[in-house]
Amino acid sequence: MPNKHILEGFQCPKCNSEGPFQIEITTTFLVYDSGVDEQTGDNEWSETSRCQCEECGQRGTVATFRS
Ligand SMILES: [Zn+2]
Repeated sequence: MPNKHILEGFQCPKCNSEGPFQIEITTTFLVYDSGVDEQTGDNEWSETSRCQCEECGQRGTVATFRS
């Protein structure tokens, strides 16, 4: 069944898995001198973010995992 939410259009080019994938995500946290506190930003990735298939280990970028 094709992904319909945040992984819409994603599919592994090697094993055709539709997830899950390990994706390099950029976000923002509130950081104090004592440590990292709450997440304050959205989860974002781009076409060039690193992506890895959890099923077969295929690595690439988000662009290579989007059909
Ligand atoms: Zn795969």
